[in-house]
Amino acid sequence: MDEKRKISLERASQLYEEIEDYLAFKDEFLRETAEIRDVLSQKHKEELLNFFGAGEKEWNDWHWQLRNRISSVSLLSKFIKLSDSQYRMFEEVSAKYRWATTPYYLSLMDYEDMTYPINMMALPSSAENDSSGELDPMSEEYTNPAPCITRRYPNRLIINVTSSCAMFCRHCQRRRRIGESDRIESEENIAQAIEYIKNSREIRDVLITGGDPLMLPDEMLENIIRQVRAIEHVEIVRIGTRLPVTMPQRITPELVDMLSKYHPLFINVQFNHPGELTKEAVTACERIVNAGIPMGNQMVFLKGINNDKYVVQLLNEGLLKARVRPYYIFHPKQVKGTKHFEITVEEGLKIMKYLRGHTSGLAIPQYILNAPNGLGKIPLLPRYIEESDEDHVKLLTWEGREVEIEY
Ligand code: SF4
Repeated sequence: MDEKRKISLERASQLYEEIEDYLAFKDEFLRETAEIRDVLSQKHKEELLNFFGAGEKEWNDWHWQLRNRISSVSLLSKFIKLSDSQYRMFEEVSAKYRWATTPYYLSLMDYEDMTYPINMMALPSSAENDSSGELDPMSEEYTNPAPCITRRYPNRLIINVTSSCAMFCRHCQRRRRIGESDRIESEENIAQAIEYIKNSREIRDVLITGGDPLMLPDEMLENIIRQVRAIEHVEIVRIGTRLPVTMPQRITPELVDMLSKYHPLFINVQFNHPGELTKEAVTACERIVNAGIPMGNQMVFLKGINNDKYVVQLLNEGLLKARVRPYYIFHPKQVKGTKHFEITVEEGLKIMKYLRGHTSGLAIPQYILNAPNGLGKIPLLPRYIEESDEDHVKLLTWEGREVEIEY
């Protein structure tokens, strides 16, 4: 064997060692999903269908999923056995912050373990009683130049069309908007928002969000998209939604047919844990992508859910398989009632540092902190530059090796 091949093989073996632990984690996760999680969700689904006297057809109908949301402790306790103290705590928190989950999302939960990430994202917790944080840390109320509009940048803006969502995520950063009522913005407000965009020739990118805009009936949603699309200076339209995750039944062939009339259109979703990447969710994403709509994922770092380098890697690699590009990872905002999900920037950066080199660049989103007072996104990067001046730059590789470049 020649020397170069020998060195290459030694390097390959070192590289394998770097990824060995992750491979073991991934094997275990996939085994547990196939042997335990999938079996349990199927069982839960059958129990739910029996309870509601429904069948497969109803399960796949998003209207049915919405009509049968589980939002009271007494109904939840028919499926998940709650202790007396848990029951009381759920009621106490529900009185403060409402909650709801679709039968589909409930079927993914672990009925024995409230710390399972899917449970934590959907069910109330006593930790929500911690009153630190703010209701509107982004000061959205001060970046609202017209009804339904949030504007933080020179040439793009957000139009919030509804406050309704299929599920009220416990980590929701817009609690103040979605946590109180299900309100679709009035035609008059939408008309004023469209008028504002028409009169702002610099706006080339409009993000339609909420709440969740896909909660709107197809016709109503199309009416909004059509009007935005008709504005000459609007180059792209984006939709922010979590329904492919919490109620994938919403992604019907009719919906994607309608959306595909309005290219260039982009859809961003929010998967936070690989357990959310079920067959149904992946099928929903494939349907969207097959209609020529590029998809991106906006994960939020959440303690107990995904503050783990292997969980993030597995999620991002799974998303790529579903043809969803990991786009952003948001640092959690300090929203009242969500303190238990917060992590430090330091912890987030460690995970980002690990990803570089251990997975392909496509699986590495940008880590973003939203500045307080609506001052916009700040990209957070691990430190790779040790020192730099006009003559040289000293850098660190993904493995922490120092390299120097002289000019
Ligand atoms: S889908 Fe989004 S807006 Fe709705 S509750 Fe969840 S995080 Fe909040």
